Amino acid sequence: MTAKKAYLTMDTDWASDEVLAFALDWFEAEAIPVTIFITHDTPLLARMRANPIFRLGIHPNFYPLLNAKPDRGDYRETIAALKTLVPEAAVARSHGLVDAGLILNEFKAQGIKGDSNLFLPFSSGISPKPFRHYTGLRRLPYFYEDDAYCLEAVKASPEDHLRLDPSGLKIFNFHPIHLFLNTESTARYDSSRAVHGDFAKLSDWVNLSADEGAFAFIKRLSTAAREMKIEWDWIETLCD
Ligand SMILES: [Zn+2]
Repeated sequence: MTAKKAYLTMDTDWASDEVLAFALDWFEAEAIPVTIFITHDTPLLARMRANPIFRLGIHPNFYPLLNAKPDRGDYRETIAALKTLVPEAAVARSHGLVDAGLILNEFKAQGIKGDSNLFLPFSSGISPKPFRHYTGLRRLPYFYEDDAYCLEAVKASPEDHLRLDPSGLKIFNFHPIHLFLNTESTARYDSSRAVHGDFAKLSDWVNLSADEGAFAFIKRLSTAAREMKIEWDWIETLCD
């Protein structure tokens, strides 16, 4: 692994097209490679496929199975439905990080090369490394997630994240809704839930702080990476 690299990912989590487009606009303006884990069909898939900065993975939702509502099929069908929508996907991350040997085996069987189902936050003090799983999958733990970051008692800066163990794996994960809202607290997200599908009203919920929030974080991260000469790459490159 190259020391001076870091990786961006985003889980779409059923974001509205307006909210997703907001996130895509930013990545395109910055021309930063990002792997986008897809939850659902959207006309924006064509836009993502047309721009080489975007690579697409899958973000299957196993919650209906955990809630004994298997109306959308079993775990194999859940993966297959998304793999049909995104046949080029080489990586997967489960919604809610739902993980099991069964799931990893099925990822592999359906052509996935690597997964990012393991979250080792910066506050754990663990420096993540990619490793090979017995299924043959490449496991790619990540160490920052916008919503989990809201719950941290001590918030390490973007620079702290980039400075952690130079040989460590630095994968960041964002969500379109948190970028749009510039989420700095789970309360902001939870209380805006009713208008997530109403883009005009959602604007009233945006956190305007330039220092705190998911969008503030990613902007500062991009600047810091440039200054530290850290290159962005796609997590797919770690699977070969
Ligand atoms: Zn998710």
